[in-house]
Amino acid sequence: MSLDLQTQIPIRSNVSLAGLTSMRVGGAAEYFISPRSSTELAESLAWACDRNLPITIIGAGSNLLISDRGLEGLVVCTRHLRGIDFDEKSGQVTAAAGEPVARLAMQAASHGWSGFEWAVGIPGTVGGLVVMNAGAQGGCAADCVVSVETVTLTGETKLIHPQDLDFSYRTSALQGSSLLVTGATFKFQTSGDSTAIASDTEAKLKVRHTTQPYHLPNFRSVFRNPLPQFAARLIEDAGLKGYQIGTAQVSELHANFIVNLGNAKASDIFSLIEHIKSVICDRNGVVLETEVKMIGHF
Ligand SMILES: Cc1cc2nc3c(=O)[nH]c(=O)nc-3n(C[C@H](O)[C@H](O)[C@H](O)COP(=O)(O)OP(=O)(O)OC[C@H]3O[C@@H](n4cnc5c(N)ncnc54)[C@H](O)[C@@H]3O)c2cc1C
Repeated sequence: MSLDLQTQIPIRSNVSLAGLTSMRVGGAAEYFISPRSSTELAESLAWACDRNLPITIIGAGSNLLISDRGLEGLVVCTRHLRGIDFDEKSGQVTAAAGEPVARLAMQAASHGWSGFEWAVGIPGTVGGLVVMNAGAQGGCAADCVVSVETVTLTGETKLIHPQDLDFSYRTSALQGSSLLVTGATFKFQTSGDSTAIASDTEAKLKVRHTTQPYHLPNFRSVFRNPLPQFAARLIEDAGLKGYQIGTAQVSELHANFIVNLGNAKASDIFSLIEHIKSVICDRNGVVLETEVKMIGHF
């Protein structure tokens, strides 16, 4: 339903968000848009600003726990902002915020460009990858980002370079800022053998599928590793593997995963997270921090 007949911005109201997250839980957005162009994005941000509405940005929802009570204001989902542009001369590739990371990894491999194989199993978008400084198997976004295109909530565009992004373990200066990432430019190594890179990329994907519970809804690592310790080891040693609240369970395959066995509520998952934190704090004196972003009221 279009709410604004003058601008024809396709903003909808009361849209369920559960299906837009990898955990498959959460309530509805008061208002929702998944813009298909930068014009539509700018118009929808202006629409929300004119009404003084809070704005929440989501990508693929693979690192989000959204409250059962839903979200007030406008939720902007970036997944329709698409486009990948390989510049053979500079060896750089620019991808729009909503591009799936896996698609970028596959396309880089088929170009014979290496340095992004580690990213193939990450189910997020390019925007989420940069904001989270997501990483795997020794690589992370910070290793290959050249610049990030952003827009402020009032519509001003800003190009940000790595020195201003404060990348560190699973975080960046973009977290908690009000900037919306619209795209990012990466630099890879361009002189590789595309067959070898493609087979390495596929091998990396296979390893993940055999060691992690991909068959059930989850958001992968619930907690940041309290280095030099590992969250999964602490949780497993506390005997919490398989522990359940409602139908939210600490995975039996990997202790730093929570899985939704079916119809779990965000409140079950939240309670399970709080329970794990309290057990590990009492047992090991370690305060676990969530890697997962929790949004809305809990
Ligand atoms: C099966 C599975 C495997 C995973 N494997 C890994 C892994 O190997 N390594 C790893 O690091 N993570 C992993 N994750 C977690 C997750 O995929 C990453 O954190 C990913 O980068 C999140 O991207 P997203 O698009 O889903 O972001 P979302 O979950 O939608 O959002 C995450 C945060 O980023 C913000 N955000 C998203 N897009 C934008 C944007 N365009 N502009 C501004 N803010 C934005 C959101 O507001 C939110 O705060 C995994 C998750 C799952 C479910």
